[in-house]
Amino acid sequence: MKLIFEQGRPGRGTQLFPPLDVEAALPPETFLRHQSLDLPCLSENELSRHYTQLADNTFGVNNGFYPLGSCTMKYNPKVNEQLAALEGFAGIHPLQPVNAAQGCLRVLLLAERYLCEITGMDAVTFQPAAGAHGEYTGLLLIKAYHKSRGDTARTKIIVPDSAHGTNPASASMAGYQIVNIPSGADGCVDLEALRNVVGDDTAGLMLTNPNTLGIFEKHILEITDLVHQAGGLVYYDGANLNAVMGIARPGDMGFDVVHLNLHKTFSTPHGGGGPGSGAVGCKALLEPFLPVPRVVETEGGLTLEEARPQSIGRVKDFYGNFSVVVKALAYLTTLGREGVPEAAQNAVLNANYMMEQLKDLYPISGSGRCMHEFVMSLEQLKEETGVSAMDVAKSLLDYGFHPPTMYFPLIVHEALMIEPTETEPREALDEMVAVLRSLYALAHQEPEMMHAAPHHTKIRRPDEVKAARHPILRWKQEM
Ligand SMILES: *Cc1c(COP(=O)(O)O)cnc(C)c1O
Repeated sequence: MKLIFEQGRPGRGTQLFPPLDVEAALPPETFLRHQSLDLPCLSENELSRHYTQLADNTFGVNNGFYPLGSCTMKYNPKVNEQLAALEGFAGIHPLQPVNAAQGCLRVLLLAERYLCEITGMDAVTFQPAAGAHGEYTGLLLIKAYHKSRGDTARTKIIVPDSAHGTNPASASMAGYQIVNIPSGADGCVDLEALRNVVGDDTAGLMLTNPNTLGIFEKHILEITDLVHQAGGLVYYDGANLNAVMGIARPGDMGFDVVHLNLHKTFSTPHGGGGPGSGAVGCKALLEPFLPVPRVVETEGGLTLEEARPQSIGRVKDFYGNFSVVVKALAYLTTLGREGVPEAAQNAVLNANYMMEQLKDLYPISGSGRCMHEFVMSLEQLKEETGVSAMDVAKSLLDYGFHPPTMYFPLIVHEALMIEPTETEPREALDEMVAVLRSLYALAHQEPEMMHAAPHHTKIRRPDEVKAARHPILRWKQEM
C-alpha cells in the first residue's frame, strides 16, 4: 500500500473554502513561511479510498472476535460515543469558569459516586490517563500516607509473580524496592511466602485480581490482613474488573486503594493508544492525598477544590481524559444495578464455556473455574510437534480471529491467554473453539504449514524484532 505522500499530483486537491472576498489578515512577517509546505495533493475520492484501505488493513472489534487476554476488547455501545460527542461535553474548554461547567462537573461527581459504589471505596480521582499511570498515582498516595505519619522506614512493595508486569514497574517508578513472591501450585499467592517477607519495611502489597492466570485469589482476606497487621497498605490492580464489577468489592476485601481501567471495562475503545483513564479509588484514610483539583459540592453549586495541603499534586493536566469518564457514566447508567453484575457474569460464563471445551487438548494453568479469562500452556504441544504458541496465534489470523495474548503471563511457558468478554455471541465462541481444536490436529499432521502461517493475510510474518527495534514511523521527504 502506498503512503499518502506517494500519491496524488501537484495541483490536485479539494477546494473546501470559497475564494477570499475580504483583505487577507496575515500574521507578522517573522511568522510567515517562505517555502511551500509540500503537502500531498489528492482529490477527495483518492483521500477517501486511502483511509478506507487503511481501515481494511487493520483489525478491530468491528471486524471480528478479538479475545486478547488482559485487554477486555469488548464491543462498546455506539450510544456512549454519541453522548461523549455532545457539544456540551466535547466543546467544553478546560479553563471554562466552573459556573459555566456545572454539567461536566456533575458528570465527574456522579461517575465518582458510582465507582465508589462499585469498588467499595470512599473517593475516586479521574486524573490518571491509563492503568499504569493509576498504579503510579496510587503508590504515591501510599507513600504520602506513610510519610505523613513519620513512618519513613517502609521502602518495599511486595508483588506476587502472578501480578501484571506494570505493577513492579510502577512501584519502582514510585521509588520503592520490589519484593517478588512466588505463587503456589494452585496459581494463587502462597501465604507462607508472604508471611516470610512482610514486615516493618513493607510499605504495601500490590495484588492483581483476578490474577494474570484469570483466577480469583483464594486467600484474599488473609492477604490484606497480613499486610495491615504489619502496618502496610494494600493495592488492588482492578484493571480487569470485568469479572468482578457489581459482584465483589475491593473495599470490602480490605484494600485501601484500587485503580480501574475505564478504557477496558467501562466502554472506551482502546488499543490504538488512547485516550484512556486509570481511575483511582481509595479509602478515607488516603483521600487527603488525592491529586488536585477535586470536584466538591458547595452551596453555590459544584466547584473545583485546589487548596488541599496534603495532596500529592497534579498527575495530569486538568481533569484527566474527560470524554472517557462520560462514556463510563453512560455505560453504567444504561446497564444499571442489574446490568453491571449481569455483564460480569456473562464474561465469566463465556470464558469458562471456552475453557471447558479446550482443556482436554490445551492444558490450563491454574485450577478450577476461571474468571473473565484463562491461560493455556502449549509447552507440551511444542515438544510433541514443534508448533509454538506463536504458530497457533498466527494460524488463527487465517480464520479471521485476532490472536489471544501470547507469551503472557511470563510464569507460563508457551502461553496463550483468552478473554472472550461478555459481548460475544455463543456462535463466535463455538467457532473459535472448533478452529483451535482443528489447529491442534493440524499441528500433529502438518506442522510446516503452521510455521508458515498466516497464509491469507495482507502481511505475512513481519520481522518482529526489527519492527520493534528499528521502527520506521516517519516519512522522509526526498530533497
Ligand atoms: C492493562 C492492565 C494494566 C495496565 O493498563 P494500561 O492502561 O495499559 O497502562 C495494569 N494491570 C492489569 C491487570 C492490566 O490488565
